[in-house]
Amino acid sequence: MDIPQERKVVTEIPGPRSREWFARRERAVAKGVANIHPIVTARASGAIIEDVDGNRLIDFATGIAVLNVGHTAPEVVAAAQRQLELDTHTCFHVTANEPYIELAERLNAITPGSFEKRTMFANSGAEAVENAIKIARHATGRPAVVTFDHAFHGRTLLAMSLTAKVMPYKQGFGPFAPEIYRLPFAYPYRCPTGGTYEGCAESCLAYALDEMHKHIGEGNIAAVIVEPIQGEGGFIVPAPGFMRGLADFCREHDIVFIADEIQSGMGRAGRWFAIEDEGVVPDIVTSAKSLGGGLPISAVTGRADLMDAVHVGGLGGTYGGNPVAAAAALAVLDKIDRENLLERSRKIGDTIMARLREMRSRYQIVGDVRGRGAMTAVELVADRDTKEPIDGPTGTGIVQRCLRNGLVVLKAGTYDNVIRLLPPITIDEALLEDGLSVFDGAVGAAAAS
Ligand SMILES: *Cc1c(COP(=O)(O)O)cnc(C)c1O
Repeated sequence: MDIPQERKVVTEIPGPRSREWFARRERAVAKGVANIHPIVTARASGAIIEDVDGNRLIDFATGIAVLNVGHTAPEVVAAAQRQLELDTHTCFHVTANEPYIELAERLNAITPGSFEKRTMFANSGAEAVENAIKIARHATGRPAVVTFDHAFHGRTLLAMSLTAKVMPYKQGFGPFAPEIYRLPFAYPYRCPTGGTYEGCAESCLAYALDEMHKHIGEGNIAAVIVEPIQGEGGFIVPAPGFMRGLADFCREHDIVFIADEIQSGMGRAGRWFAIEDEGVVPDIVTSAKSLGGGLPISAVTGRADLMDAVHVGGLGGTYGGNPVAAAAALAVLDKIDRENLLERSRKIGDTIMARLREMRSRYQIVGDVRGRGAMTAVELVADRDTKEPIDGPTGTGIVQRCLRNGLVVLKAGTYDNVIRLLPPITIDEALLEDGLSVFDGAVGAAAAS
């Protein structure tokens, strides 16, 4: 780590150099490509981003859950550099490469389930989702796919169709892919089927199963795709038992249960995969984000009989499982293993949750605090009784205040009122506490006004 792991604000943020770059960006880059923070990174290491003005920011966003092992982790950089010099790309379909095969073996071993598995690689999360659906449809010969409220599965046509939120992800981009059915998600804080916090799983499950039976038909459903902890939708931890009930229904009716672990996996929620805490063994798991430690790679791992149902040539792509990205991913997995980062993720989560609960007792605007492992968030409300979401500008004000004080955080949520905390799980305790104090101060300032 060549950047000191300390917060240091040396200019106003954004500083003059970031502003200059942003003036150029306006003229050169499409407007639809959002920038949440108006700063430009010069370099990054561990849990610190250094911007082009020399400010050192604590990173609680990690490139949207991509740097679980921290920025430019030396082992990951070294593995990628080594591979870059050996073989950058031949395309797996033309001549195979070692990292691809080895990474497939590793994912087959760490995903839940002791059965035979197979893996295929792509480049982005959306592509992994698309391939998982292709495989499920091919293997079952059925068309329908079930998805949920608040779901996020990506931005390509099929993935966007599975995604719930219209603005900004879907607005004006239709028509969408057919044969997609959306059901309520067991969101305990706002149970959509009128259940209590404790009764949410039961009522949502009853609704979901009835809907699949009456309006879709079990025999038409290829797959149920679900995030074991919803990410973009607001870090929603489903009511206990909801996942289990869905998975049991899928098993009973030969429906492929796909766990989209793109955000929740790779140690973020304290396990390799968040679904492990639900006592559910999915048929297919999708991974991406933190898998490559910053290099683009995604994976579909699943039961061998499903994965091998597709004819030769039916799956793939030019860059899927690029050897440099696969070598980096192997280094990520090694690092998580060697440094016991799953345990560390749970420990960090305990520290964060303790602080968030304390904040909830101090600030009326903190309506709910939730999470598992180091995948945690606060949901902000204007009124605790009605649970009316806090308005967008107030949430944005908190995020901006954090940034001005040297902390990068992100919002989430269908109502845009959730702030999620995604520090690297390698972050040291003192820096974590410092970041939490900045966050606490920013929420406190909003609560007071
Ligand atoms: C980010 C994300 C995706 C899409 O990944 P991209 O790499 O952006 O295409 C899909 N599913 C989940 C759960 C995600 O968090």
